Amino acid sequence: MKKYCIIGHPIAHSLSPSIYNRYFQAMNIEASYEARDLDPASFDEEVLGIIRGYDGFNITIPFKDKILQYLDLDRGAAEIGAVNCVFDGKGYNTDWIGFIRSLQGIELIPPVMVIGAGGAARAIVYGLYRMGIHDLHLMNRTQSKAEELSQSYSKRFGMKIYVHPFSALERMIKRAGTLINATSVGLKGEHFNVTPETFSDVRVLFDVIYTKTPLQRLAVRQGIKVVMNGRSMLYHQAVENLRIWGILKEDHFHRIFEEVTS
Ligand code: NAP
Repeated sequence: MKKYCIIGHPIAHSLSPSIYNRYFQAMNIEASYEARDLDPASFDEEVLGIIRGYDGFNITIPFKDKILQYLDLDRGAAEIGAVNCVFDGKGYNTDWIGFIRSLQGIELIPPVMVIGAGGAARAIVYGLYRMGIHDLHLMNRTQSKAEELSQSYSKRFGMKIYVHPFSALERMIKRAGTLINATSVGLKGEHFNVTPETFSDVRVLFDVIYTKTPLQRLAVRQGIKVVMNGRSMLYHQAVENLRIWGILKEDHFHRIFEEVTS
């Protein structure tokens, strides 16, 4: 019997156990996938046991960077500085892959503006870099985190990331061709403090949240042609996890994913 899990804190909200366990059942794979809520204070004591004890696992907030020192890293994980998937002692980042695959066939209209500077934003900005988009605008509630992301990616990848204060959110969205929300705003029904007209010139909206949010609803009402939520990113990162673990049958997984998440 194979064992998989996701570690995080908190972890109760994760859809991953339902998705993967249904997939294992449907595929007659003898395996289980559990959610493990780890106390951050005992992470260093427990992590080696987890690396040894599971056939593969995922990592979410707040451990994506804490685990780096315990693993060999693939290029994406090393360059982003965050791991969300582990197999055989090696750490991968499948978020950026999920992001770029979810955009297949979609043209991102410049200027590109990203809101957020947490784990999702780091993966998305890296994904933009790997797609050939090297110039973008960045804003985050805590501006110092945006500055840090900008400096680190400018130095390592030669990107030009212009950081603006969060107080300029409305003004900056008005100038954006493509707006990417990489924050958790909307997960609980929250909305950015901007007027509906702010979005009138935005052509593409990508919202990392995989449920319908006020931002997405507003974008549709404002006539933005391309409005995407994070569901497709979630799907493609999960496909990549299964591929890394050597247990992917994509047509079956697609059906299960639709059943569990719709
Ligand atoms: P994180 O590292 O904790 O970062 C959270 C981000 O949201 C930070 O930029 C934070 O700003 C911002 N934020 C939180 N509350 C805010 C508020 N009230 N106003 C303005 N900004 C706020 O989390 P993460 O890993 O980046 O995840 C962010 C979201 O992406 C989560 O909802 C997660 O579920 C989702 N996600 C989706 C996928 C997918 O496949 N679709 C993949 C990964 C993550 P500060 O820096 O100022 O705190």
